Amino acid sequence: MPCCDVVNRGAAIHGEKIIFATLDARLIALNRETGKVIWNKKTADYQEGYSATAAPLIVKDMVITGNSGGEFGVVGAVQARNVDTGELIWERPVIEGHMGTLNGAPNGMTGKLNATWKGDLWKTGGGATWLGGTYDPGTNLLYFGTGNPAPWNSHLRPGDNLYTSSTLAIDADTGVIKWHYQTTPHDGWDFDGVNEFIPFNATMNGKPMKLVAKADRNGHFYVLDRTDGKLLGAHKFVMQTTWADGIDLKTGRPNYIGEGRPGAPSGTEKGKVVFSSPSFLGGNNWMPMAYSQDTGLFYIPSNDWGMDIWNEPIAYKKGAAYLGAGFTIKPIADDHIGALRAMDPKTGKIVWEYKNPAPLWGGVLTTKGNLVFTGTPEGYLKAFDAKTGTELWKFQTGSGVVGSPVTWEQDGEQYVAVMSGWGGAVPLWGGEVAKTFKDISQGGMLWVFKLPK
Ligand code: CA
Repeated sequence: MPCCDVVNRGAAIHGEKIIFATLDARLIALNRETGKVIWNKKTADYQEGYSATAAPLIVKDMVITGNSGGEFGVVGAVQARNVDTGELIWERPVIEGHMGTLNGAPNGMTGKLNATWKGDLWKTGGGATWLGGTYDPGTNLLYFGTGNPAPWNSHLRPGDNLYTSSTLAIDADTGVIKWHYQTTPHDGWDFDGVNEFIPFNATMNGKPMKLVAKADRNGHFYVLDRTDGKLLGAHKFVMQTTWADGIDLKTGRPNYIGEGRPGAPSGTEKGKVVFSSPSFLGGNNWMPMAYSQDTGLFYIPSNDWGMDIWNEPIAYKKGAAYLGAGFTIKPIADDHIGALRAMDPKTGKIVWEYKNPAPLWGGVLTTKGNLVFTGTPEGYLKAFDAKTGTELWKFQTGSGVVGSPVTWEQDGEQYVAVMSGWGGAVPLWGGEVAKTFKDISQGGMLWVFKLPK
């Protein structure tokens, strides 16, 4: 019962095994030469609304995965399994009140019961970890983003609703949370917070630092100290944010705009409709940004769009959608929705941008050769100058590009490949925005290019 089309975000390779998650919430290891099943494990109950879409992550002798189903009142969690057997080593639920495990024994509660959730709502609190995570060997920390609190109607769940719409730093060996940073406390817009957390090193205020950056769905680009989670910078990377006027660097909290939150329903009537920007599909969504060590810039595939959003009465029912909200997505600019933006993480300045008529929904790649690659729903794979944003090359693939370009060296030559094939959440939920891609062909192709000699 996936919310947002039939998607899978990738597989992991470990020795002879290829490991991938399935929509019915299983994790499977096959022999990559023969296709023979090595192990096949149920990670959660799909009848409760769980699914699995993230690419697994290999850390030491473990395979680490997140879960999906935040629109169905599931409980987000991170699991570590023995990569050879698939047996569970530890599990860390990401919603306050739930118990973690390590080697089959209890390993401490997540957060403090009822500290930021009232009543029993934490039991179906959402926070799906659907994008997977990042591992930093230097700190031995896993960084996992967490999705929206459930239901979307925030008036039912007063409080910050930890640890939803956050990034958690988790000890890779024990599954214990070392620190967290919540980008959208008391999320009322489905901003999630799963976006990738990219470690980088740079000098800030004259000091070399271990940093990390995140372009959040809520429209802000965050820079933190990746050893302790201290917030160092927060910069808007989209045209408009109607829900908050900046982020307070001292408290780390958004400066909320009261009128930006959709109203509470009364009786059977829906609540006050508000126009909100970004839309719930976000300033950025699943598609990963890229970092160039040469330019020191992050390249963010972003979108400028808004939505009418309202809250409706809702009650939890096992396995059913648990939103309590409705929405219509709308463009906010005449000339574009998508924008590839080069962000300077030290200053928060957008150094250059490329505007695209349709929403950008593919990942970004930077190369040592000073190029930035990304695809468009209009079907192009494009290359830009990493310093200036000048468009240098494009190729029409025949369908919308939702994949992430990759590059590798083989027999002394450099290759670039990308998957082309339109689908995912945008055509399902695009509302008025769908006009920009009504003529795009379906498809499913792998395109591979190599550099001319
Ligand atoms: Ca969500």
